[in-house]
Amino acid sequence: MKNLSDPLPPLREVIAEYGLSAKKNLGQNFLTDLNLTGKIARSAGNLEDSVIYEVGPGPGALTRGLLENGAGRVVAVEMDQRCIQALRDVSAAYDGRLSVHEGDALKVNELNLIGDTENKDIHIVANLPYNVGTALLVKWMTGEKWKPWFKSLTLMFQKEVGERIIAEPRTKAYGRLSVLCQYRADCRILFDIPRQAFIPPPKVTSSIVQITPRKEAVNAPKQKTLEKVVSAAFNQRRKMLRASLKGLGADPISKLCAAGIKETARAEELTVEDFCRLAVEYEKK
Ligand code: SAM
Repeated sequence: MKNLSDPLPPLREVIAEYGLSAKKNLGQNFLTDLNLTGKIARSAGNLEDSVIYEVGPGPGALTRGLLENGAGRVVAVEMDQRCIQALRDVSAAYDGRLSVHEGDALKVNELNLIGDTENKDIHIVANLPYNVGTALLVKWMTGEKWKPWFKSLTLMFQKEVGERIIAEPRTKAYGRLSVLCQYRADCRILFDIPRQAFIPPPKVTSSIVQITPRKEAVNAPKQKTLEKVVSAAFNQRRKMLRASLKGLGADPISKLCAAGIKETARAEELTVEDFCRLAVEYEKK
C-alpha cells in the first residue's frame, strides 16, 4: 500500500525488484502496509529523542514506519544479504537516519553498533524472526546489569509467545519466560496482527508485546540464580518442587521451607515473588 508521505515505492514493488522471496530458515514473513507499521512504530513511544535498534528489517516496512514517524536514528541488523541494498535505498530516502549492518543479531554487540547515543534513550523495536525471537528476548532480558542499556522493547512475536511472556501463575502459558521477563520488567500485549498482514502469511496470529524494564527490587536474587531455580522448576513442571529442585544440590525442602513455600507445591503455582524469595534462599550457604 502506498503511503503519501513515504518517498519510496510500495513494499510489494521493493520485494519484487530485489527478488526477496521469503526464506523459511530466516523466519521471513514481511509486512507491506505502512499504516500498520506506522501504528507499531508509534506504540514504541517517543521516537524523535531516541535511538531505535531494529533487528531484521528485511525489505524495510517497519523501518520506514519508524523513520516516517520521526525516529531520530535507526540502527538495524539484518542477516539476509539480499535485503541490504533495499535498506540502503531507505537510508538514502531518509537523509541517512538509518544505518544498516549485515550480521547475526544473536552474536552482535549492540552498543558497539549503535555507537554514541548523545545521551538519548535506546528503544528496541522489531518484528522478530520466529525462529530466533525467544533466544533474542532471553539475550536482552538476562543481563546481570539492570537496568539494561535499552529503555523498552516493542517486539512482534507469535501470539503464543506473547501469551507466555505475560502469563500469570496457574495457567498453561506460565513458565520460565514469564518469570524471567516479569521479575524486573512490566510486560503487556499491545495488539494483535492478523496473518493476512504478511507475505507470506504465517501459520498463526502475531502480537505486539511491550516490555519496560523496572528498577530491580533491593532484595532481588542474582539473575543467574533465579534462572537456575526457574529452569529446574519448569523442566519438570508436573513434579512437586521438592523433587524437581533436587538437581540444584542443596536440600530443596529446607530451601522451600525458608522461603515460606509448601514443599508439595508445583512450579506453576508459584508467583514471580515466590520464585525470587526461593532464589535468594539458594544464594545463602
Ligand atoms: N521487519 C521486516 C518486516 O516487518 O516486514 C521483516 C521481518 S521478518 C519476520 C524477520 C527478519 O529477520 C528477516 O528479514 C530475516 O532475514 C531477519 N533475520 C533472521 N534471523 C536473523 C538474525 N539472526 N539476525 C538478524 N536478522 C535476522
